[in-house]
Parts: sequence; C-alpha cells; structure tokens
Amino acid sequence: MRETIPISKLSISNEDIKIVTKILKSGILTERTGSGPNVSQFESDFAHFVGAKRAVAVSSGTAALHASLMALGIGPGDEVIVPSFSFVATAESVALTGAKPIFADIDPQTYCIDPESVEDAVTKKTKAVVPVHLYGLPSSMDGIREIAEKYSISIVEDAAQAVGAEYKEAKVGTMGDIACFSFYASKNLAVGEGGMTTTNSEEYADALRMIRNHGEGRGNESVRLGHNYRMPEVVAALGRAQLQRLPEILKARRSNANTVTNLLNDQDSLTLPFEPEGYKHSWYLYTVRLKGANAARRNKIVQRLRERKVGATVYYHTPIHMMEFYRAFSGREKIELKQTEKASRQVFSIPTHQGMSKEDLEYVAEIVRRVAS
Ligand SMILES: *Cc1c(COP(=O)(O)O)cnc(C)c1O
Repeated sequence: MRETIPISKLSISNEDIKIVTKILKSGILTERTGSGPNVSQFESDFAHFVGAKRAVAVSSGTAALHASLMALGIGPGDEVIVPSFSFVATAESVALTGAKPIFADIDPQTYCIDPESVEDAVTKKTKAVVPVHLYGLPSSMDGIREIAEKYSISIVEDAAQAVGAEYKEAKVGTMGDIACFSFYASKNLAVGEGGMTTTNSEEYADALRMIRNHGEGRGNESVRLGHNYRMPEVVAALGRAQLQRLPEILKARRSNANTVTNLLNDQDSLTLPFEPEGYKHSWYLYTVRLKGANAARRNKIVQRLRERKVGATVYYHTPIHMMEFYRAFSGREKIELKQTEKASRQVFSIPTHQGMSKEDLEYVAEIVRRVAS
C-alpha cells in the first residue's frame, strides 16, 4: 500500500549522525555566553551564505523575531505592521514586546504583504514593519523599503520560510535592518528547533548577542532585558552540515516545483504559484489557489487528496487577525482584510519536497488533477 507523501521531509545523512556523536563526546553542549565553537562557526558560515555582515544564532525563529524587535527597542505603546496571512509567531513576537501588531493585507498573486496596505496602516506610533517572505517567495521589498524610509520605520524580515530565496540578485536576509530565519523541523534548513538573525549593523548584532544571553554585557552583569535564547552546540553543528547541503536541497525543490507546474499548467480550476521576474522562490511550500472556492469546498478537496495519500495541507486556515486572542489584543474588533480572508478560504499546499522521486511528483499531480477539476 502507498504511504502518504508528506508536505515536508527531513534530510538527515550519516554524516549528521557522526557530527552529533562527536559533539556529545566533546563534552561541550552549550557555552555560557551562547558563543560556543560550533555556534560561532555556524554564524559565520550563515552570514557568508546570506551575504550579511553578521549573524547571531538563537534557539528558534520565534526567538529570532522577538530578539530582533527587542534589539530595535520596540515596546509598549509602539505599533508594528505585520501581515495577518502568516504563521502566528509573526504577530506573537510583536505582542511579546508589549507593542501592538497592526495587520496589513496581502497581494493576491504573491500572498506576501501588500506595500499599499502597509502604508495605509502607518500611524505616528508605527516603529517597524515585518514583511514575511511567505511560502519562500520574497516580499515586494522595494515598495516596503520606500515606505520604511518615508516614515522612518525599521524593517524586520521574517525569512523563516525563505532561506536561500532571492530578490533582485540578493539573498533575503539583507533587505531590512534585521532578518529572522527558522530551522524548525519542517523548514528547508531543518535541525528540529533553531533560529538565526542576520544584519549589516554591528550595533544590532551586539544587542542581539546580549539579548540571547540575559542581557549580559562584557562583564557577567545584565545591562539590559534579555532572555535565554541560546542555540545548543549540537544544533549548530547540524545546522552547519545542513547549510552545506542547502544549495542541493533548494535545487531539488526548484526542479520539483517546475515539474509539478508543467503537469498542472492546463488545470483551469487552479491558480499555480507565481514567481515574479527577478525573484527566486525557495519553494518551501508549493501553494495553489482553488479558483472561486469557499472554505468548505477547499477543505473537501484537501480531505480527498489526503485520502489518496497526498499530504496536502492548508497554510493558513485562520488569518491571525481573525483569531479571538489577537482580535482582542489588537483592540480592533472589525478590521477586514479582503485578500487575506479570501486566500485563507481558497489555498492549499501540496508536497514537492526534495525527497520526492519523479514518480511521486507525477502521482501528486495526477491526483490533484483528478480531485480538483
Ligand atoms: C516557522 C515560522 C516562524 C517561527 O519559527 P520557529 O522556529 O518555529 O519558532 C515564524 N514565522 C514564520 C513565517 C514561520 O513559518
């Protein structure tokens, strides 16, 4: 019997197993300041890969977002503009600082935050905007940067889904003040739990290093508010190994996405993913839109796909601004984000991960054609 083809798959090599064993035998599992040998090496490898001056490793993508907002000095009374069509951590990290997440709408073609909607949301209290490179496609950064400059607000890239993605010849991670990455188990670079921040600012890098270790300065004394956001040595060593394989993983995902696009191109019921000129998707998720559908019909199709062993999944059923907690938290009961709400009813993602064979891809496309026509 056929096993379900999952939406993502870990790539763990024998070399990874050896690396973990080596760290365990070394006796150094973490370092008091958070800058152990493997963490430091992973940081410099990652900064080099992204093309950023500095990288500071942390314990998760959520920690990366929270620490970045803290490093920018964001707190109570401030507002931070975020897309509602994202993983909850994007808004949660803002709430953790005491600031208010203000939700903006998306571009219906790219599903990323719409610069026009960002500008509409700017007030005197706005301190930052957090564009999410959703599904692995970079946000429209020229538009975001223009607004950020015009109103003197900071940019924190949520690149949790987009390691290796490119916008106009540059990798994401250098297009704002600080960028945040996640190495959660489902991501393209996956170590279980882990995160990274990148920046071209020494000042922000110093602040991030302090924040990840209880706000400690050069002495052992805390000079600002911090947290324990340190990355363990085992995670850093695995991250380094995965980073070396990342170009291969990205290449396989790109090729798989192209294969599926070719097989589904003539399917009138679906809108396939869009990669604008000058953008390079990381293909973390291959997400299609079921044209004209309501949520019930989309959910039915996802259920049928799953019955036929295609691990289709919906990202995201409930936009953050419609979650009870965030509705109350934002203090805005009745905001309407038309494109966000429509997308949340119509999209679903299908597996195109790096571990799939040509036969798997053909199977997925064939089942999608049958079920979604
Ligand atoms: C995964 C993810 C995060 C959070 O990362 P964790 O490592 O799970 O904390 C934040 N934002 C987005 C868009 C994500 O997909």
